[in-house]
Amino acid sequence: MIQEKGSISIHTENIFPIIKKFLYSDHEIFLRELVSNAVDAIQKAKRLASLGQFNGEIGAPLVDVKVDKAAKTITISDNGIGMTAEEIKKYINQIAFSGAEEFMEKFKEAKDASEIIGRFGLGFYSAFMVADRVEIQTLSFQPGATPAKWSCDGSTEFEISEGSRTTRGTDVILYVNDENQDFLESHRIESILNKYAKFLPVPVQFGTKTESEPDGEDEEGKPKYKSVEVPNIINTSVPIWTKAPSELKDEDYLNFYRELYPMSEDPLFWIHLNVDYPFHLTGVLYFPKIKNDIELQRNKIKLYSRQVFITDEVKDIVPEFLMLLHGVIDSPDIPLNVSRSFLQSDGNVKKINTYITKKVADKLAELFKNDRKGYEEKWNDIGVFVKYGAISEPKFWERAKDFVLLVNTKKAHYTLNEYKDYVAPAQTDKDDNLVYLYTPNAEKQDGYIQAANRKGYDVLLMDSPLDNHFISHLERDLEKTQIKRVDADVLEKLIDKGETISSNLSEEQTQEIKEVFEKAITKPGMDITVETLSAEAMPVTVTMDEFMRRMKDMAAMGGGMSFYGSLPDKYKVAINANHPLATKILAETNADARQALAQQAFDLALLAQGMLTGAELTSFVERSVKMI
Ligand code: ADP
Repeated sequence: MIQEKGSISIHTENIFPIIKKFLYSDHEIFLRELVSNAVDAIQKAKRLASLGQFNGEIGAPLVDVKVDKAAKTITISDNGIGMTAEEIKKYINQIAFSGAEEFMEKFKEAKDASEIIGRFGLGFYSAFMVADRVEIQTLSFQPGATPAKWSCDGSTEFEISEGSRTTRGTDVILYVNDENQDFLESHRIESILNKYAKFLPVPVQFGTKTESEPDGEDEEGKPKYKSVEVPNIINTSVPIWTKAPSELKDEDYLNFYRELYPMSEDPLFWIHLNVDYPFHLTGVLYFPKIKNDIELQRNKIKLYSRQVFITDEVKDIVPEFLMLLHGVIDSPDIPLNVSRSFLQSDGNVKKINTYITKKVADKLAELFKNDRKGYEEKWNDIGVFVKYGAISEPKFWERAKDFVLLVNTKKAHYTLNEYKDYVAPAQTDKDDNLVYLYTPNAEKQDGYIQAANRKGYDVLLMDSPLDNHFISHLERDLEKTQIKRVDADVLEKLIDKGETISSNLSEEQTQEIKEVFEKAITKPGMDITVETLSAEAMPVTVTMDEFMRRMKDMAAMGGGMSFYGSLPDKYKVAINANHPLATKILAETNADARQALAQQAFDLALLAQGMLTGAELTSFVERSVKMI
C-alpha cells in the first residue's frame, strides 16, 4: 500500500538525465558512494551504542554487496541505523543543495563529476547513473520503528510505502539499466570493491569463496582437508596506517607494501605519517628502489579519506619531487569527491604538502645521522629524491644541505661541507674560487680523470639524469664555487692558479706549429690554439667549453635552450707547446711526415674524448698500423 507519493524537491524539471550525462565517465563510483553510506550508517549505530543511546543488539557489523544477474539488480545491504520514513524524506528526498538555480550555475563551472557529487551531496543519487529504478528497504534502530520502502524511477517522482525489512539496517536495490549491464558481472563489482573498499573500517562482503579447512586424518594418519564456503570479505578493516607505529614491526610495513604493490621489489624504508593539527592526516609512505624508467613509477600513492579510496592521482597533495614515493595517505580533511580544482585551491592541501616535505626531510636526516653507512649504501636510490627535492623545493633544500651526498670517481661519499674541506687545498684557483670537477661518465673520461687525479684533483661522479640540473643548482647555491666537467679545458686552465709556465718554443716556432696543425685538422668546428702546459700533459687536448656544453645538454633535454642546440658544435684544440712532440714535429723536415704526426696526435685527442668514429677512426687505425 502506497503511503505517500510526492516530488523530490528540486525545482528543475528533471535533474537525473543531467547527472547521468555529466557523470558518464565516473560510473563506477556509484558503488563507492553507496558502500560508504552503508559504512557510515553502521558507524553511526556503533557510536549511538557507545553513547548509550541505542540499547539493542549491535551485532557483527557487515556491509553485504550482492549481484543478481537474472533479476538485473545490485543490492547493497547494511546493518546500520536504518531510516524511518520521515528520515527518508529528510535525507533522501531533499537533495542537499539550496536550489536548482545554484546547482545549474555551479554546474557550468564544475570541472568533473566528482566535484558535482561532492559539492551537492549527491552521493546517493549517483545510483541513477547505472540504474533505471532504485529502491530502499530500511528499518530504523529507533524502538517501535516500522520498515519503510522508497522507490524512484529516476524522474523526480518517488513513492514511500511500508517496507519489508525485518532487521535493523538498509538495503539499497539498484535495477541496473540496459547500458550498464556490465556492472552485473561479479568480477566487475569485485574489482570496483577492491579498488575503493579494500581498507574500509567495516567488513564488506561480496558473495562467498571456497577455502580448504583441516578435516581430521585419513587412514594413513595424514591430515585431511575439506572445502568450505566462507564469506568473501573484500577488505582489511584495520589497515596499518590506522595503527600506532609502536604497534608495528618492520615486517608489518613490508607485508603491507607487498599487498599494495605485489610486483615491486621491497622498499628501502618508510615513513609513518600521523598528524592531528592543523589538519588530520595519517599514512605510510615508502621509498622504493628506483628503476630506470622513472615515469612508470609515478602515481603510486593512493589517497584515502577515512579509509575510502579516492584517487591515485595525488599530484597536488604530494610535492612533485615525492611523486616517486609509494604508499597511502588518508585525510578526512580531503572530501571524498575530490576534484582537481579543489585540490589546487584548498589551504589544507598546501599544508599537507609542506608537512610531507618536512617529514621526508626529517626521516632522511635521521637515517643519515643514525646510520651513515646504510645511508650511503642506499644513496643511489635516495639520491634521486634528494636531488629532485633540492632543485624543486627551496624548503627541502634548506634541510637537504646537511644530508645531500657527493660521490667521487673512487666511490667515496662526502657531505657538501666535507667535500669543500677535502678539495679546498688543491682546488682553489687564483681568485679564491673553489673549482669542483666532475665527470658524467667515468669510463669514457678515464684519461681526463686520471690526469686530474695525478695533479691531486678529485673528480665527482655526476651520472644520473638529474645531475645536469643539480650541478647548476649547486653552483647557484654554493658561494665562490665553480663546477666544471673534467674535460672542459686543459687541466691548467680548469683550475687556473695563475702560475705561468714558460714556453719551450719561440714565437715563430709557435706560429709554425699552429700552421702544421691547421693544415692537418680538416674537421670543422675546431678552434686551434697553442698553449704552454706542463710537459706531462697530453700533446693535444680537445675540449668543449663548459657553458656551451651545458646549454647544449639542456637543449637536448628539452630545457628551452633550443638556440644553443641549433649551433654547430665548437671545440677547442689545445696544442701543448711544452710536450716533446711539439719539438719533434718542428725537427721533422719532411712535410708529409710532419702532417702525419700532427694528425696522429689530434686523432689521439679525439679518441680520448670518444669523438673518433667512422671513416676518421678507420683512417686513424690504418695510419697507426703503418707507423708500427
Ligand atoms: P551524504 O552521504 O553526502 O550525506 P548521500 O546522498 O549519499 O549524501 O546521503 C544522504 C543521506 O541519506 C545520508 O547523509 C544519510 O543520512 C542517509 N543515508 C544514505 N544511505 C544510508 C544508509 N545506507 N543507511 C542510513 N542512512 C543512509
